[in-house]
Amino acid sequence: MTLCMIVMLMFALFADESETDSGESDVSGSDGDDTFWISWFCNLRGNEFFCEVDDEYIQDDFNLCGLSSQVPYYDYALDLILDVNTSLGDTLTEEQNDLVESAAEMLYGLIHVRYILTTKGMAAMLEKYKNYDFGRCPRVYCCGQPCLPVGQSDIPRLSAVKIYCPKCEDIYYPRSKYQGNIDSAYFGTTFPHLFLMTYGNLKPQKPTQSYTPRVFGFKLHKP
Ligand SMILES: [Zn+2]
Repeated sequence: MTLCMIVMLMFALFADESETDSGESDVSGSDGDDTFWISWFCNLRGNEFFCEVDDEYIQDDFNLCGLSSQVPYYDYALDLILDVNTSLGDTLTEEQNDLVESAAEMLYGLIHVRYILTTKGMAAMLEKYKNYDFGRCPRVYCCGQPCLPVGQSDIPRLSAVKIYCPKCEDIYYPRSKYQGNIDSAYFGTTFPHLFLMTYGNLKPQKPTQSYTPRVFGFKLHKP
């Protein structure tokens, strides 16, 4: 009787373990499906302003309308972003592969500028804003106000991204020179303003103090 119980107990334990094993392998299996390129790209030095665009958003052709004519090697670049392993890339030379990589960056940027104007994208940017990922206003009287990324142009390759302070309503160069090399068009001219319209409670009061230049303690007379 006792032996029988031990055998049953061992059997139950073994069954439990094998279930746990299969559960674990399922988890790691789904990990492998995660978009590796996107998280790799967003974690590169200087790319801190980018949020991770949802796979689903990228997989919907409607959201990518018009981009195929703007980005060279479009199909290769899209496969790279989505970690689709096709044999397409095998036929490319090393030089062409480099071009695909820079095309993927451009494609991701042009998808990103659209995504951050959607509800989901804006929510992702809100998390980054709360985390001070976009830096703080360098103006003393803005008292460390967190900033938002802004483009001076919506056309690629015309200017680099800047940061917008919602308090003094001015724009500044990002602190990191790496961030200063990111294209304006990947964030666009609309984002911070639509963001502050959406999350109206985050719009700060205008600064009350301003700097007064003095010489030996005396204010300067305006000519
Ligand atoms: Zn400011």
